[in-house]
Amino acid sequence: MADACIFCKIVAGQIPAFKLLETELIMAFLDINPLSKGHCLIIPKRHCQVLTDCTDTELQEMLPAAKRIATALGGQFNILQNNGPMAHQDIPHVHLHVIPKPNIEEGLKMKWSPLKVNMEALKQLCDDLRRLL
Ligand code: 5GP
Ligand code: ZN
Repeated sequence: MADACIFCKIVAGQIPAFKLLETELIMAFLDINPLSKGHCLIIPKRHCQVLTDCTDTELQEMLPAAKRIATALGGQFNILQNNGPMAHQDIPHVHLHVIPKPNIEEGLKMKWSPLKVNMEALKQLCDDLRRLL
């Protein structure tokens, strides 16, 4: 547990949360400032700052939990997972957002600004990345 971490404190029961489900490894609870009704967060109980700090086993529990909750909520939704402050991560404990999208006004809004790329550069990038995997 990281002493100053709000989500670790939720896991430890030191601050309250509206808990939806919990296993040995993960927990899901309602977001305190929801973008839409049902917006919730799924976290590993162990303190992990960003997704790449999680074990595969922790990650393997998070997505099915998101599926269960999204199925219960029904309708359209976004799954969001931010890593690092520049990438809009405010709480440095890994969390998967499940954000219902009931209409245009509520839920996640995105500004999508694609780069201009050519096929040669994309192929080169693909080759470079594959060597690292
Ligand atoms: P991030 O920007 O890090 O991806 O999202 C952090 C999320 O945590 C935000 O949606 C915010 O509303 C939520 N949040 C922050 N503090 C608390 C808290 O104390 N309790 C709960 N339930 N959610 C929180
Ligand atoms: Zn934490």
